[in-house]
Amino acid sequence: MDLVKAEFVASDDRFAGCGGDQWMRRIHTGCRWTEGPVYFPAGRYLVFSDIPNDRMVRWDETTGEVGVFRQPSGYANGHTRDRAGRLVSCEHGNRRVTRTEHDGTVTVIADRYQGKRLNSPNDVVEHSDGSIWFTDPSYGIDSDYEGYRADSEIGACHVYRVTPDGQVRIAADDFERPNGLAFSVDERKLYIADTRQNPSHIRVFDVADDGTLTGGDVFGTCDSGAFDGVRVDAAGRVWAAAHDGLHCFDPDGTRIGQLLVPEICSNLTFGGPRRNHLFVTASTSVYTLRVTFNGAG
Ligand code: MG
Repeated sequence: MDLVKAEFVASDDRFAGCGGDQWMRRIHTGCRWTEGPVYFPAGRYLVFSDIPNDRMVRWDETTGEVGVFRQPSGYANGHTRDRAGRLVSCEHGNRRVTRTEHDGTVTVIADRYQGKRLNSPNDVVEHSDGSIWFTDPSYGIDSDYEGYRADSEIGACHVYRVTPDGQVRIAADDFERPNGLAFSVDERKLYIADTRQNPSHIRVFDVADDGTLTGGDVFGTCDSGAFDGVRVDAAGRVWAAAHDGLHCFDPDGTRIGQLLVPEICSNLTFGGPRRNHLFVTASTSVYTLRVTFNGAG
């Protein structure tokens, strides 16, 4: 197993609480493009996508073993774990969002909007009210690289909310390529990355009780490639995957620091029973380290 120096770079005093292991462990490499890390505390394993290889991979924390979790995976991209502990997945190839039930069967959560097929769902989060929120850029239909080339039936790239009773609604319709998304700790704000802006940025919305979004100002911009996955820690800081590592923002939008990673980063998640094991998917590899902060509960 490879070890890589963990370089936390502060640009503001508020980053002082962010540190951890001196070394990151590269727990797996040799993939084409890793994405969608999701940790299951009950099973002590991490699942992530290797999108162009049309597979999902599982890393067993108890043994360090890595194996195929699902192949073909429908060119799965982002995942989340819902409140019942079930896997929720965005599938480029099948152009849908699904849930893997406790018995292993797969339930479709969303595959169309007003009768038209989705583009290629990219990333997904659950709200505590049971609604499922996902982004739908076109990366999985732009070519045959990580999905199947096709025209967009909807003709645009939106953010969607699936209500607890299964209705698919547009949550935001003014994005170019919506990508990673994450709620604030109190779920009153929703952060959404737009990969195709110049520079790429994250916007922040206010979330009403009925799921309506308002606001949408630019929260932070990217100076290294483009933002992809986004997560929030328990202190409310926003962590975003960029080309040179993870960028960390104070809730006021100030970038306060970075964790440098030696490959282009796509996403991150927090694992372990106390959510202080940080996992980063980055190009061909997955990195992990224990940190001095915790993922949002
Ligand atoms: Mg993504």
